[in-house]
Amino acid sequence: MKTTIEAKISAGSFPKIDFQAPSPWNERYEDPAYAERLFRDIRELARKKCALILAHNYQLPLVQEVAHFVGDSLALAQQAQKTSARMVVFCGVHFMAESAKILNPEKKVVLPNLAAGCALADSITPESLEEWKRRYPEHAVVTYINSSAEVKALSDICCTSANAVSVVRSLPQKKILFTPDRNLGGWVARQVPEKEVAVYDGACPTHDVLRGVTVEKGISRYPNAVVIAHPECREDVLAQADEICSTSGMLAAVERHPEARTFIIATEWALIYQLKKKFPDREFIAADGCIGCRLHCPYMKMIDLEAVQRSIEEEVFEIFVPEDVARGARRALERMLAVPRDR
Ligand code: SF4
Repeated sequence: MKTTIEAKISAGSFPKIDFQAPSPWNERYEDPAYAERLFRDIRELARKKCALILAHNYQLPLVQEVAHFVGDSLALAQQAQKTSARMVVFCGVHFMAESAKILNPEKKVVLPNLAAGCALADSITPESLEEWKRRYPEHAVVTYINSSAEVKALSDICCTSANAVSVVRSLPQKKILFTPDRNLGGWVARQVPEKEVAVYDGACPTHDVLRGVTVEKGISRYPNAVVIAHPECREDVLAQADEICSTSGMLAAVERHPEARTFIIATEWALIYQLKKKFPDREFIAADGCIGCRLHCPYMKMIDLEAVQRSIEEEVFEIFVPEDVARGARRALERMLAVPRDR
């Protein structure tokens, strides 16, 4: 029996999209007929090559549309683990494709643009983690999935923003070293006061740039708005949020406020595309006070439709992880996958 996603791959079709509609989401493709042609080619190539296209919620909207599945890091890791497709085309950043490869060593995993890195993942190295482990020798190491395979291999368990609190709670140790995101780590520490949490000094520049005063301005303009923030935001931003959750968690958070018409969203702007699609009758405001240009991840926008097409056609750029590193990283990732989402 085929899953919905397998059925999507073998159909080679795609949902109805109005390529002609004037939309800021389509701005990279001035010629709508060209974008539509690319779309058809990509889905047909995916069918022929039995390729599963996964896209993170921060990808360009048209890349989200061409994907068979869109989600947060946790949901994408779970999809990569259960797919029967021959190849996984990962539209996200390098550490995500690497995690998919670690969980599926026998499968071909490709990243359409090798330059799609992550500043947060780069803020920790195996050497700097070893140094922090020497400082906190009794602490269990919890590492955010936004990290390299080498760093994961040196960790006891991984987490994503969707299950970080549950992961920390699930550990028998009282002392935790949380790496690399200091904002997420600080937020987790506040949720689990029964644990002693030391936090590494890394940050995601896309989220860390947002300040509480900017969110305050938004709230004064839209006093009835519900504020939803990603835990990679600073504490002064999180202090004003009604809901703090991962990107997929934000979709569920909107459902918890059926009476609210307006939402202020403190995360990377492309997530608003998914929100608008799912809740066309609600208004979503980017928390940076403009159209989201400050909450913009340049790495996530390095993949466009042409890159996806080339990636499937030429089966590039294949991700390889040495088995000795993959073994340790897989242990940390599989422990994480056994822990449920925070809610
Ligand atoms: S949004 Fe931040 S954490 Fe996510 S990929 Fe971009 S730089 Fe990395």
